Amino acid sequence: MLAQNGIPTPEDIAEVLPPAERLAKGPVAIAECFQNIPCDPCYHSCKQGAIKEFTDINQRPQIDFDKCNGCGSCMSRCPGLAIFVVDATFSEQEALVKIPYEFLPIPQVGETVTAINRAGQAVGEARVVKVQNSKVQDRTAVVWLAVAKDLMMEVRHFKTKEVR
Ligand code: SF4
Ligand code: SF4
Repeated sequence: MLAQNGIPTPEDIAEVLPPAERLAKGPVAIAECFQNIPCDPCYHSCKQGAIKEFTDINQRPQIDFDKCNGCGSCMSRCPGLAIFVVDATFSEQEALVKIPYEFLPIPQVGETVTAINRAGQAVGEARVVKVQNSKVQDRTAVVWLAVAKDLMMEVRHFKTKEVR
């Protein structure tokens, strides 16, 4: 449970997921931000107006999945590294999971990494498809991982295989 071990329950997660019909249309953001904290840069970073205006800075973000285009701009602005983008339409077998990443080394495109779930457990392998790490992201890279479709709602972190 989140308050005890930092791991969200299946009920916590179900609350923030987009509906299956929206996932079938392409990339979409998921804000796995489960606690009421004074924080709102995600709202200010979204040029699509897809994150509903906060009436209280302590409230949790609410994404309008129909307005979100999955651009990922909000991801590097979130100090909690709590926003992910999932693209269920990436290919027949694989989905894309975009992960905010502040560790070193930054992986390279084409690299195979160990996919990690919300509990910190290895759940399989993933392939690095793209790395976004521009100046404007201020050292919060966004790593695009291709994962097996049945893992797209599990994989939320990764571990590089070797230290370079
Ligand atoms: S992914 Fe893009 S459109 Fe969607 S909430 Fe984030 S900034 Fe807005
Ligand atoms: S910026 Fe991140 S931590 Fe802050 S409210 Fe938005 S999703 Fe939550």
